This record gives sequence, structure tokens and C-alpha cells, in this order.
Amino acid sequence: MDIAAVIDTLRRLVAFDTVSAHPNAALIDWAAERLRDCGARVLVQHGDEPGKANLFATIGPDDRPGLMLSGHSDVVPVTGQAWSSDPFALAERGGRLYGRGSADMKGFIACVLEAAPRFAQAGLATPLHIALSYNEETDMRGMRRLAAHLAGAPVRPAACIIGEPTSMRVVTANKGIAGYRVKVRGHSVHSSLRDQGVSAIETAAEIIVFVNALQKRLQAAARHDGFEFPHTSVHVGRIEGGTAHNIIARDCEFTLEIRTLPGTHARDVLQEIRGYCDTVLLPAMHAIEAGTSITFEEVFDSPALDERGNLHLAQAIMPLCGHLSAGRVSFATEAGILQEIGMPAIVCGPGEIRVAHQPDEYVEIAQLQACMLFLEALARRLERGELPL
Ligand SMILES: [Zn+2]
Repeated sequence: MDIAAVIDTLRRLVAFDTVSAHPNAALIDWAAERLRDCGARVLVQHGDEPGKANLFATIGPDDRPGLMLSGHSDVVPVTGQAWSSDPFALAERGGRLYGRGSADMKGFIACVLEAAPRFAQAGLATPLHIALSYNEETDMRGMRRLAAHLAGAPVRPAACIIGEPTSMRVVTANKGIAGYRVKVRGHSVHSSLRDQGVSAIETAAEIIVFVNALQKRLQAAARHDGFEFPHTSVHVGRIEGGTAHNIIARDCEFTLEIRTLPGTHARDVLQEIRGYCDTVLLPAMHAIEAGTSITFEEVFDSPALDERGNLHLAQAIMPLCGHLSAGRVSFATEAGILQEIGMPAIVCGPGEIRVAHQPDEYVEIAQLQACMLFLEALARRLERGELPL
């Protein structure tokens, strides 16, 4: 294993500014060229926004399903964060590599790209697929697009490992996440004529009070051990409304986030909130002014990863990564999207999630070494067709 080469590849990856709001196609093209050079068959799937692309590559036979290694190419912004060094220039200090995306999750991608020639030379009996997606950190639109392509492909991967940072432990379940924009349209009047208006702010406040009460009910109803917060959560993260102290507010808008336990769908939680609006709030609003409304706009909805479909995969992979117990995580991943198209998925990758999205994000060199050893062990299994996919 040439760890210096892995670090160099990570340096190149970090230098691409692939913050989700920016294009990622330059990184994808660069990775595509590297993979083609070692003999992989590469598809660059362009996104529905300019400058966005997914990559899907196959090494080994193309007439049978294989194992997919998947990583998202985008990173979260650095705006407002105090970094000790340039976040897009990888910096080594005390066995750690600092840079935006070093843990989440360009470290994994660097290992996979560096291991690709090894897989290509192995003469694999079971093919290896490599997927790189875009917009994981915002709406997971990239993986949805790639998953739709894979679902219709004549031969598709039988299973997937997503290399989000888990300190190289296998994770078999994660929460889902959905985001909504809630818009309240009230009826604006001079505040001295309070009873003739409908305050959008006060209506929003009533919805939020209902959301808080719903949270307490969700906590009492279901518990799924193994998650840091072992319940489904609902949360209002941002609110904006009104124009002046003496005007009954016409508009108020807030964001609603729902993080679901496996087996719970965000739309069912949302339905409770909508039901309250439809039966309690809206009739009272309409009695004053017919044009008032409450609308819910879905911004994203990514399902949870349910471990019932992936335990055989976890059992096969755990001995290769050196940790013999599986975990559950509260952060969202693209795994649930793949599970929805019938592809079992687990999460396992280098680095720690607690440093992800933070200033001075880092990955330990030892984690990259552990990941390379894991990929070497995986190559030996795929070479001999020994993974029970
Ligand atoms: Zn990530």
C-alpha cells in the first residue's frame, strides 16, 4: 500500500471546490479519466443542473451483478467557519489530514481511486462498481438520479457499501431525513383592527406549538435503540415573517425538518401536522378571510436505512473491516435510496462523523490505512467470487 499516493489523491480531491452549491463535474471528469486509465468502464451521468454529474464505473465482468462502493463528491460550505488553514488545501499535522471533505467523504473516495488499479489487475470473478454522486449534502438528488438509472439497467449491483465516515465500522441502519418549507398566508390589516386580520406569524406559532407537542408524543410512542436520539424527531430550524410591529403579518415562512426512525415515513408525520392545519387552523382563518392558506412544500425526502434487508451483507463485510459488531447512526445517508430500489446497502468508511461539517475537519492517516487494508481484503474476496451477494 502506498499511503503517500492515497494522500496525494486526497489532496487533489480536496482542491476541487465541490461545495454542493457549486459544480462538481470537474472532479467527476478527473476521476473518470483515472478510472478509464486503469481499464474501468465509466459512465458519466449528467445531472439536471448544469455542471453536476454522477459517475458510475465497473471493473471486472459486465454480465453479472457485483458490489458497489459509493461516495458523494460534494461537501458542505466553509462559510463563517474559522479554519486554521485553507480548507481546500490538504494540510498534514500530527498524523491528521485537514481539509473540507477529508472525512466526509473524500478520504474514502481517495482510497477507492487508489485501489482501483489493484481491483483491475485482479481478474475479478465478481465485478466491482464505483459510484460518485452529487448533492448528497442538500437534497440527495444525484443519488436519486443514479438509482433510477441502476433500477432500469439490465445488470445492476447486487449490494452497496457507502463510505461515509464510521471509523471503519459497519453501520446497518440510519435515520431518514425530510425537509419542508411551510408558508402561511394570512390577511394583513392595521394592527388596531386586530380582529379583522389573520396573523401569519400567530398561525405559524400555533403550528409550531403543535409540532412540539407532536415531538413529545413521538418520544412516548416509539423507541429504536442504537440511535443517539432513539426517536423520530421534528424540528423547526428557521422562521421569517412580518414587516412591522403595527401591521398584522400577511406572510410567515418556516422550515420543518423530520428525522425518521427506520420503518417511519416522514410523510406520515407530516400528515398529522397537515391534519391539524386542515381541521383546526384553516377553518378559523377562512372564517375571517377566504384567501388565507397554509402550504407545505417538500424540499427533500430521503428514506431511512432499515437493517432488515442488509444483515447478510453486514455479516460478510464485518470480518474484512476489523470490527465484528454493527452499529446504527443518526445521520442521514444515501443508503435508504438504494434500499428502495431493492439494493441492500451498508455504511462503512474512514474518519469520524463528529468532525464532518466542522471547521478543521480532518481524517487520520491511520484511518486511510485501515480503509486501504479493507479494500485489499475486499479485492481478494471479489477475485475469487467469495462474497455472498
Ligand atoms: Zn457525507
